[in-house]
Amino acid sequence: VTEKYEELKSRLATIHDLRMARAILGWDQHTKMPPKAGPLRAEHLGTLDRFIHELFIDDEIGKLLEDARGYEESLDPDSDDACLIRVTRRDYEKASRVPPDLRAELTRSGAIALAAWVESREKSDFSIFLPYLKKNVELTHQYIDCFDGMGFDNAYDVLLDDFDEGLKTDAVRVVFDELKTGLVPLIAQIAEHTDRVDDSSLYGDFPTEKQRDFALVVLERLGFDHESWRLDPTVHPFAMSAGTTDIRLTTRYDEGNLGASLFASIHEFGHGYYEAGVDPALERTTLSSVTSMSLHESQSRMWENLIGRGLPCWRFFYPKLQEAFPAQFGDVELDTFYGAINKVQPSLIRVEADEATYNLHIILRFELEQEILSGELALDDLPEAWNARMADYLGIEVPDDARGVLQDVHWSGGAIGYFPTYALGNVISVQLWDQLRAELPQLDTQFEQGDFSEVGQWLRENLHRHGRKYNSSEMLDRIVGGPMDPAPYLRYLREKLGEIYGLPVETGAAV
Ligand code: ZN
Repeated sequence: VTEKYEELKSRLATIHDLRMARAILGWDQHTKMPPKAGPLRAEHLGTLDRFIHELFIDDEIGKLLEDARGYEESLDPDSDDACLIRVTRRDYEKASRVPPDLRAELTRSGAIALAAWVESREKSDFSIFLPYLKKNVELTHQYIDCFDGMGFDNAYDVLLDDFDEGLKTDAVRVVFDELKTGLVPLIAQIAEHTDRVDDSSLYGDFPTEKQRDFALVVLERLGFDHESWRLDPTVHPFAMSAGTTDIRLTTRYDEGNLGASLFASIHEFGHGYYEAGVDPALERTTLSSVTSMSLHESQSRMWENLIGRGLPCWRFFYPKLQEAFPAQFGDVELDTFYGAINKVQPSLIRVEADEATYNLHIILRFELEQEILSGELALDDLPEAWNARMADYLGIEVPDDARGVLQDVHWSGGAIGYFPTYALGNVISVQLWDQLRAELPQLDTQFEQGDFSEVGQWLRENLHRHGRKYNSSEMLDRIVGGPMDPAPYLRYLREKLGEIYGLPVETGAAV
């Protein structure tokens, strides 16, 4: 190991420390900060992002990365050091194209637009948010222009790459077309059998304190550790980490609805468990934070849906739930509860959507984002375009913009290109699930006994410990030996929902 490589690592550790401090400020902004502090916090975050950016794109880092080539070539390409140099070099090539002023402006505008979006959504008045959205899209175009000549096929690829390195618009479109073809008829079929599922038990009187207590009973079993994890209430659930020993989950409680907060908590646990499982040897390097949002979402979705909405785990947890809420569940059979938590019904709000309709919400956003970027769709016409597509894909009439185009926070922060990773996470989750179930045949029995250790170990060994060493397609190839493929996910949904809704068993032709 050369002295210069040590110098590089030391600089990267400083930058990483600042990023983690910034992450804590972001967490505070969404959980504890008094509302009036918003504009000031936008300045703090803008300054920190500019400073971190300037430190990273310093010419000296470029030189140290060049000097590290010889050392890199002497290493096993899978070694931590070789991966660190490779991944950092790519980050550097991208970051050094973005002027610090633009970096700071993106952050500041995002934080200011966030406040406008909150007001716009509260009043269900798109016109309040519109000028801020226009500004964000304009800045996004400036950002995309920074990458001219870097080999991206189109503008949207630049944005996708930030959330999932190497992900291509064309590849996303192929997967989404297949999802649409499979899901639309399945959802229509289920609509003819709605009487099979009764979810009334999930709605009633669920005091926040008791919901939190029960969520912790579940999360502790799954792997939540009070010594290094937190669970706090928020408006928009999320998970963040400031290292493998500082994992922060948030959830939103609705006293009339048990499912919303419980499954959001399990979802965020999946994100947290991924971050907590990164090899501690990678701590304070470029490789310690997980940046493929598709892989990240595959983990939250696996815990939320494949484990958390599965029957085996509820054979263990359901008696505890009945004990916690006897008036609500005392007389409800486990099978009825299982149907309730898997109910399929087209609805307005993405984050509350069931497993099958969820993906159509994403495909709608993916298509609108393309049209916004190409200029085909004027932002003034966005609400109408949104509503028309909701009617088309989900058969739903959107009553107001708050429950339509204004429902998600992403565009206020300038995060265009993020949405696809949610549906891709669904797809990847089942590919990983099929692989791990083939290797661990005792899982159902273990879940019935409340034992989630073997699935956790498998995920850590095969995925989590690697941190950012591999991008999502490399990681998927290492684990399942192939690329992203929606077929296993569609098969899983048809089997599970077919059984719950008593749909006729298919004879195999259609996929
Ligand atoms: Zn998530």
